[in-house]
Amino acid sequence: FITLDALVRNTAQASPDRLAVIDGERQLRYAEFDALIDRVAAALQRDGVKPTDTISICALSSIEYAATFLAGLRVGVAVAPLAPSSTAHDFAAMVKDSAAKILFTDDFAAAAMKDAAIDPSVKRVALDGGGSGTAFSGWLAPEGAKPTPVTVDPEWVFNIIYSSGTTGTPKGIVHTHYLRWRQYGQLDPLGYGPDAVTLLSTPLYSNTTLVCFNPTLAGGGTLVLMKKFDAKGFLDLAQKHRVTHAMLVPVQYRRIMALPDFGNYDLSSFVMKFCTSAPFAAELKRDILARWPGGLTEYYGMTEGGGSCALLAHEHPDKLNTVGQPMPEHEIRLIDEDGNFVPPGEIGEIVGRSAVMMKGYLNQPQKTAETLWIDKDGNRWVRTGDVGRFDAEGFLTLMDRKKDMIISGGFNIYPSDIEAIASQHPDVLEVAVVGMPSEEWGETPVAFAVARPGRTLDPAELKAFTNAKVGKTQRLADVAIVEQLPRSAIGKVLKRELRDQRLALKA
Ligand code: ATP
Ligand code: MG
Repeated sequence: FITLDALVRNTAQASPDRLAVIDGERQLRYAEFDALIDRVAAALQRDGVKPTDTISICALSSIEYAATFLAGLRVGVAVAPLAPSSTAHDFAAMVKDSAAKILFTDDFAAAAMKDAAIDPSVKRVALDGGGSGTAFSGWLAPEGAKPTPVTVDPEWVFNIIYSSGTTGTPKGIVHTHYLRWRQYGQLDPLGYGPDAVTLLSTPLYSNTTLVCFNPTLAGGGTLVLMKKFDAKGFLDLAQKHRVTHAMLVPVQYRRIMALPDFGNYDLSSFVMKFCTSAPFAAELKRDILARWPGGLTEYYGMTEGGGSCALLAHEHPDKLNTVGQPMPEHEIRLIDEDGNFVPPGEIGEIVGRSAVMMKGYLNQPQKTAETLWIDKDGNRWVRTGDVGRFDAEGFLTLMDRKKDMIISGGFNIYPSDIEAIASQHPDVLEVAVVGMPSEEWGETPVAFAVARPGRTLDPAELKAFTNAKVGKTQRLADVAIVEQLPRSAIGKVLKRELRDQRLALKA
């Protein structure tokens, strides 16, 4: 067992001059980065933060953020990263729930948190030196400071990651040091290593980002941080730094591939690109494989851990409509409403288990018991709330979240099936289908579509286009053209918001 910060230290000793983190015009070499981690760790101890206490970070990606995150590991402190895009209500709830001793913010997050009722006794440190607390540079322990060594127990909590809140109030997902170590301790053959240059354009608080952050640092590679994503800015950075690895969510891929001058960029340095967190259309994967050098790996999984799948799209171009096969040491099964395992080929709720499952939800025994489900043989599984089906070769096709499934006239309809067809329309940039209440059918599918830049969409025409191709029960009752889809900070479509907006309109 070795913690990630210890791997960083090993690299700092072996290759002190190797680049560790690039953040705009600033960059730190491994020796400098390791020294900064030490100064943060020493300051945490000076402030009386003890092993197993919690600190919280709510900020855009930065060198200081990355160092604080690793300093937590170094002194056995649990880190609860928060999404700066949360509502005031959720901020207050998460800071209280995590019992954070220190809250690290930047001006961006502090502005967002302005109306949150946070206990004033929680110390604030401003990572960017802004007006939102003690400035980080003054708070840091002096140059050369080192923390008192702490032997970290693998069972201690390292991360409390709040779920995306896609389906409701965020839940604090508890990961131990052991789980994290299992994730980066066995670097999968994805090309990470000293030559890896990973561009992170999704927020650092999210597990999606950590999936690349951890193995890059574990392998002694370089991180390039991007505070706020835009398609052109991403390609500029990728070309400039000869980037080899990147994690993007589907909406980001879509924006990048839609850029007219995409073909003018030199992206030949890419080894592997990743995608996770939301439905990734097969035709988009195909386009990326055709026009963007390097491999493409899609992950399916959840912050709770357990049931993770990977699709190496470049190796399985005939399986782009699936999310791939269970990862090594991950077991995935499907269950029916009564908790019976369903036979291969049938649809069911996805459950998964592995050594990297969460410990549980923080302070939520009820929700933990619902999610960590125990089968008849006493095995513990994570219930994903997602519905899927395995094909004969063991590739998993994802249908939808159970909560998003539409039940119309007694039939189960998966919005993703209809979305896949509607998005084949040449003028559609993106589309989301949700179930709306219907007196006749219980629920009926309604589509919300966004036009490609410079194009216009006619709702009646898109409805006819889609309904000519979908099954009879899947036909759209209505189509609305919208400027954009409501999304969470990590780019997931917030279907509950679409439903609420639509209901409000009808009321
Ligand atoms: P909350 O639990 O708060 O509602 P969330 O489920 O969106 O939020 P995450 O743990 O970030 O929080 O996301 C996991 C979910 O994301 C999965 O359960 C699945 O629905 C979706 N997902 C993950 N990977 C993929 C993928 N490759 N394709 C489609 N959906 C995916
Ligand atoms: Mg979830």
